Amino acid sequence: MKFRLAFFFCILLTVKIAAQEDSLMFRKISDEILLHGQCYNNLRVLCKTVGNRISGSPAAAKAVIWGEQAMRAAGADNVWLQPVDVPYWYRGKESLALKFGAKANYKQVVALSLGNSEGTGGKPLEAEVVMVHSFDELKAMPDNAVKGKIVFFNYRFRQDFVFTFEGYGDGVKYRWASPSIAAAKGAIGVIIRSMSTGEDDYPHTGGMHYMDSVSKIKIPEMALGNYTADTLERYCLKGVVKAKMQSECYNKPDKVHSYNVIGEIKGTELPEKIITVGGHLDSWDVGEGAQDDGAGCVQSIEILRAFKALGIKPKCTIRAVLFMNEENGCKGGEAYADSAISKKENHLIAIETDAGGFTPRGIGFVMSDEQKDRLKKYKNLFLPYGIYEFNHDEGGSDIGPMKAKLNVPLAGLVPDSQRYFDIHHTRNDVFENVNHRELKLGSVALAQFIWLVSKYGL
Ligand SMILES: [Zn+2]
Repeated sequence: MKFRLAFFFCILLTVKIAAQEDSLMFRKISDEILLHGQCYNNLRVLCKTVGNRISGSPAAAKAVIWGEQAMRAAGADNVWLQPVDVPYWYRGKESLALKFGAKANYKQVVALSLGNSEGTGGKPLEAEVVMVHSFDELKAMPDNAVKGKIVFFNYRFRQDFVFTFEGYGDGVKYRWASPSIAAAKGAIGVIIRSMSTGEDDYPHTGGMHYMDSVSKIKIPEMALGNYTADTLERYCLKGVVKAKMQSECYNKPDKVHSYNVIGEIKGTELPEKIITVGGHLDSWDVGEGAQDDGAGCVQSIEILRAFKALGIKPKCTIRAVLFMNEENGCKGGEAYADSAISKKENHLIAIETDAGGFTPRGIGFVMSDEQKDRLKKYKNLFLPYGIYEFNHDEGGSDIGPMKAKLNVPLAGLVPDSQRYFDIHHTRNDVFENVNHRELKLGSVALAQFIWLVSKYGL
């Protein structure tokens, strides 16, 4: 009996010592990144020397070189480029003018074509505007009410969701699918209210796609900032409004050779087990792709740097991946998963940071309930760092194929979401709108999480 009791206390003591060691390591990681982190400097270089970098563009090629250098500077054991062919959507010149009332003159407004949209061939496309609020409302209208006209999808980003990604999930279908649905009714163009929480006039670009099964006709789509959308709404309720769209955008016919950038620290005890963490290197072609997703790229590189600086020798292999083409095709994510399959790699977990470099609040999981419960047991270690939210089902687009094709468990950093959709995909997504402490804290949370998963598994 005495022996059993002693054994029990021995176990208890070991668990306590392990918890203290973990908590000490959490502090070391946090100090290293907050005091010596390079992620903010790296982001400055990416934003100011490369700038925005849509897939297939010369800037995206320059970003690959930047990424490779940054991985080497971080001290990665191995750095390589993984080939991937990507589409190249080109914007060119564009303009939108609105005419509020029969006697009024055309007034230029700020607008952005949506990514993947066809343009007007550089010629003016002029028509009356028909305002609708939903797909159902449009479908219920007689065809002659829409034929030859430009449809204004006046769907407002819902402000009642506290976690703004839910509002985005709710409304983004109007950006994505409106042109084909409107074209099926005979419309010749589409204007949308931006997917924006902002009380301002910045239009947001973003991906759309044409659905051949709905309509074979590809009509152009442009987005307005909320203020101009409000004005357009007011005048549409009053009487006749006309729009003149002009744009040169198109998808280039040939794919462009590009790369995912990969850096890794080899595991010591279980090198065959891989923990992937990444963000996407491409961005939209406005602003500097700072929050989306330069932040995720530099946070991922920072994890390698911090581990090396602290002399941490992880049990498992830690891989930082800068994925190419998340915004308009996800070809980088597909290529990474396909390569994992062909090389028969053993992936423990894939983690993404693509929700902005704002103050981290939690880590989301897409995995079995048992795995989630096991990870949530570590929540007390994270609380001193402001990380408390573990109930979001968050992964990321780039790592989605790892789940779909290989059933790899996923996780995603969950930062504060209040300002992300003010600037996401706009000219305002610039380096100056990223805070250095918030950015570093995101990297701290990820590095701590990865250190735990490498030590204890799932
Ligand atoms: Zn993104």
